[in-house]
Amino acid sequence: MSTLVFLEHHEGELLKPSLGVLSKAADLGGDVAGVVLGSGVRELAAGAGAYGASKVYVADKPELEKPLPQPRVDALAALIGEQGFDTVLFAATVLSADVAAALSARLSAGLNWDLTDLVQQDGSLIGKRPALGDSVLVDVGWTNEPRLALIRSGTFDPKETGGEAQVEEFDVQFEDFSLGATMIEQAHAESEGPSIEDADVIVAGGRGLGSPENFKLVEELAQALGGAVAATRAVVDAGWYPYATQVGQTGKTVSPKLYIACGISGAIQHKVGMQSSGVIVAINKDPNAPIFEFCDLGVVGDLHEIVPKLTELVRQRKS
Ligand SMILES: Cc1cc2nc3c(=O)[nH]c(=O)nc-3n(C[C@H](O)[C@H](O)[C@H](O)COP(=O)(O)OP(=O)(O)OC[C@H]3O[C@@H](n4cnc5c(N)ncnc54)[C@H](O)[C@@H]3O)c2cc1C
Repeated sequence: MSTLVFLEHHEGELLKPSLGVLSKAADLGGDVAGVVLGSGVRELAAGAGAYGASKVYVADKPELEKPLPQPRVDALAALIGEQGFDTVLFAATVLSADVAAALSARLSAGLNWDLTDLVQQDGSLIGKRPALGDSVLVDVGWTNEPRLALIRSGTFDPKETGGEAQVEEFDVQFEDFSLGATMIEQAHAESEGPSIEDADVIVAGGRGLGSPENFKLVEELAQALGGAVAATRAVVDAGWYPYATQVGQTGKTVSPKLYIACGISGAIQHKVGMQSSGVIVAINKDPNAPIFEFCDLGVVGDLHEIVPKLTELVRQRKS
């Protein structure tokens, strides 16, 4: 097996999830190399040796300064073509998911994503992928090479083994279309209060809110309770609320002490992300909404009347 691990970096450091994937690749055996792409990143490459890379390839180019996928796809496609890696691993992030998907299309190579383990079984590489709301693990494989895999972020801890990597620079010819996109701005989202992963109380809003402006109802209740605001995919997809707040199968899994669902139907894909909450309260005007089948306390009624009253009561109690 000859494996290439895409090593992502931020503010002058290789990211831990990438180094964890590198350590896992080293455990699996064979030739393991890393690749660092960026501008002013030569110094970073050698550090990967300590985590199991015998070689680290570097493309240090101004075109790779911004975290845009297509120039990275050019670089990886060229390197894989030259060196003939049979396996290419990525720790899942927004950028690496874009890069892996585009590389899969460019090379007509199979991509398995959201893997939580990789094992050698009867001489073949097998990926383990959680399915059905993480309740089962599915074995997945590849029918051709290179085998591309995105590993769920944080699955593997980096293991420092103290080795040294040979660093080799390589040149990249960029396709015109790969340089067509420019990044105009990159900013960190500022948020007040606890994040949904850490909050003891979550107030979640769904399509029943009726409009993005009505999210202020859940925000006010969350603020009164010292909690965080979450959302369903339906409202995130509609652009009503940020993706980072999505709870469910394709969002985050949360388990606060109290989860208040406002105008949420309780679809299975939402349920799997919040079912382990301590107490689930549902406010929904439809008595047949599925959420009433698994909540601890259900209120049938119009959230526009109930939520402001609840917020007011909480504020009164607190004062
Ligand atoms: C592959 C896949 C992955 C998915 N991943 C996720 C995921 O991660 N997270 C997720 O949330 N969804 C996910 N979904 C979508 C999911 O199937 C549902 O479509 C979504 O959860 C529904 O969101 P909702 O409850 O906000 O909207 P709806 O299902 O439209 O429900 C709105 C609810 O609001 C109630 N309501 C309306 N007006 C009021 C009012 N005035 N007062 C009180 N109640 C009111 C209605 O009775 C209704 O029950 C996924 C779907 C697929 C296919």
